[in-house]
Amino acid sequence: MNALVLTKKNSLSHKILQEAPLKSHEIRVNVKCVGICGTDKHLYQGQPGSGEANMPVVLGHEISGLIAELGPDVHSALHVGDRVAIDPNIPCGYCRYCKEGRPQLCEHNEAIGVTRHGGMAQFVNVPEGNVYLIPDSLSFQAAAMVEPVSCVVHGLNELTIKSHYTALVVGDGFIGQLFTALLATRVKKVDVSGRNEKKIPILKKIGATEVFNPEIEKHDENYDLVIECVGLPITQERAISSARRGGQVLMFGVSEPEDQIKINSYDIFFKELTIKGAFINPFAMQDAIQLMADRRIDIEALITHELRLEDVPDVLSGRFKEKITKAVVTIG
Ligand SMILES: [Zn+2]
Ligand SMILES: [Zn+2]
Repeated sequence: MNALVLTKKNSLSHKILQEAPLKSHEIRVNVKCVGICGTDKHLYQGQPGSGEANMPVVLGHEISGLIAELGPDVHSALHVGDRVAIDPNIPCGYCRYCKEGRPQLCEHNEAIGVTRHGGMAQFVNVPEGNVYLIPDSLSFQAAAMVEPVSCVVHGLNELTIKSHYTALVVGDGFIGQLFTALLATRVKKVDVSGRNEKKIPILKKIGATEVFNPEIEKHDENYDLVIECVGLPITQERAISSARRGGQVLMFGVSEPEDQIKINSYDIFFKELTIKGAFINPFAMQDAIQLMADRRIDIEALITHELRLEDVPDVLSGRFKEKITKAVVTIG
């Protein structure tokens, strides 16, 4: 089968790979669409994503497709030809975190498209527990976005959200847009801090109250909820200082592993701030599918590029000419 393989840091190649034999509890999925994620860029540059890349590895962890084959011991009610989305994370089930019901912190997490072959190929083998049926109303493009939406659902699950709250989303990229759309129906107002003026119309359309350019305007520092979706020290510091007393700050953007930030420690005490991280997507796939099926989020409106596998090396190396907010690759 055709596959795009990360062979080493900064090196992707198209290869013809032998399909791996299907294990007894695995399902072979004929990949239809795969999203390109910021963490694919991190992996390409030799940094960790949801884990360290186990090279050579086929990238791609935002996957939709059709079931092509069931292993002999698959017992879930799935059939060849079913339309599915894939949860890329495979926690071990036996470490202390898995046993506590916090599989996102698993000490031995395997991840499809990171530690084992992913969806930038014609087929991918996945454990049956990672396969989710999708309704016919969801396109394969949309279904490839179930994984990033599920990460955002987990982030929101980590917060206490009340209808009268105000929220600030720091970052106007795809993840910032997902948070904006999902918070807009749950709180009084959602402001967005972003630099790209061209994104203002889409942000307003999905529910942003106001959009600020933090380099030009100073916005108020009075938000109940602040969601940081950029991952740079400057935006993280700005996020924390934008929370009001009693505020909650969700640190969602992925930093460089060695990054440090400055926080006013008196503020944490005096404002009773909550600063939380959110990592991957525990127990959130089904809710993500439902939110998308109910059109609570119009995911197609947020996809800016539909690409081919041949385009991916340019995108990950930064050579792609256009500015991408979110790209989905159609396979085959
Ligand atoms: Zn991702
Ligand atoms: Zn575990």
